[in-house]
Amino acid sequence: ATTASLLRFITCGSVDDGKSTLLGRLLYDAGMVPEDQLAALERDSARTCPGEAPSLDFSLLTDGLDAERQQGITIDVAYRYFQTPRRSFIVADCPGHEQYTRNMATGASTADVAVVLVDARKGLLTQTRRHSYICALLGVRQVILAVNKMDLVEFRQDIYASIEMACREMIASLGIDDVQCLPVVATDGDNIGKRSARMPWYDGPSLLERLECIEVPAVRGAAFRMPVQWVNRPDPEFRGYAGTICGGTVAVGMPVVVQPGSQRAHIERIVTADGDLPQAREGQAVTLTLDREIDIVRGDVLADAAQPAQVSDQFAAHLLWMGDEALLPNRTYILKCGTRSVSARITAIKHKVDVNTQAELAARRLELNEVGYCNLDLDHPIAFEPYAQNRTLGGFILIDRQSQATVACGMFDFGLRRAHN
Ligand code: GDP
Repeated sequence: ATTASLLRFITCGSVDDGKSTLLGRLLYDAGMVPEDQLAALERDSARTCPGEAPSLDFSLLTDGLDAERQQGITIDVAYRYFQTPRRSFIVADCPGHEQYTRNMATGASTADVAVVLVDARKGLLTQTRRHSYICALLGVRQVILAVNKMDLVEFRQDIYASIEMACREMIASLGIDDVQCLPVVATDGDNIGKRSARMPWYDGPSLLERLECIEVPAVRGAAFRMPVQWVNRPDPEFRGYAGTICGGTVAVGMPVVVQPGSQRAHIERIVTADGDLPQAREGQAVTLTLDREIDIVRGDVLADAAQPAQVSDQFAAHLLWMGDEALLPNRTYILKCGTRSVSARITAIKHKVDVNTQAELAARRLELNEVGYCNLDLDHPIAFEPYAQNRTLGGFILIDRQSQATVACGMFDFGLRRAHN
């Protein structure tokens, strides 16, 4: 992996730890704030603290944009794109205090790196544990721990060191080995874009430098997968299957299997808006044509015939419950995985997880923000992969039939064989 690659990250922390300020400051230090917005920021900052020496309230930079996206979106995550000469970034900005966990889970499901914020005055809180646990559950394998508001603890190294130790231990217990720590002052920019002269005892890189340099290991040997988003059939001469490749690479001539069935064909063409390609890879949106007619519908998965995905209608999965009403076993929900929707029933809650201790507790139900390990029974088999191997085919959401609200996100662990009885 080159460092010039795209990095997806998320910021998490408790309310008021300084997430908005940190993100605003980061964009500012990276030179990513447009002139007109900068002028508005100066104006608005002067209004919030009149008469004082001009200091900029960087949280206004990100908060100010929220209004734009609060229209009819169920999961409220804004993806901001920015760039430095060394790298480009997509940061999932997850506002909303009430639904923060839900928004954070959505953001974490696509993030390579989590920037976990801790308030230097408060140290490691239950919320920090919860958010770190959810990041780990959703496949984040690298964490940057930013101990913020160092100005409010007189820049004391001993305070930083004890928070660093506690957090490292907690994060390591979640199976995340790659943890980098640094002390910051989000409001003033210490160790955000530039290294700080006020904490000479810290001689590591700034947050921006770390984000620019952190290497995300590529998933090695991932097999080709593409969930079919729609069947493109403009005339009888052409039948294409459109979707976004969610694993591996595809090439013209490659044998593929249409899952959850077992029909096979070869790739004839890889069509894009910019013309045909000889091959395409994960992340690209393409239209594929095959060398023979097969009945394919939205929701089917085109997969490498030599390494097909698994197929099952019975699963063990982790669920993060996000519904206002508790999860009750045996109720039917709509399960969406990739581009497929099926009916699903939770047949058993095997245990729930205490996010503080990771202890497995017996449970009859799952409440808002609780994590449980459950058995699921689907009314149709689907193609899937364990979440650790493929976030698209391994991740799913559950939707309540009546309210149409998203009530859970889940991660397949493995498929179960249907019991014969
Ligand atoms: P969020 O809820 O995590 O997004 O937190 P905000 O970014 O809104 O910050 C909460 C409060 O903490 C605001 O009043 C910020 O100005 C303040 N704050 C954030 N970072 C720092 C810091 O490094 N030092 C000090 N003194 N205050 C900070």
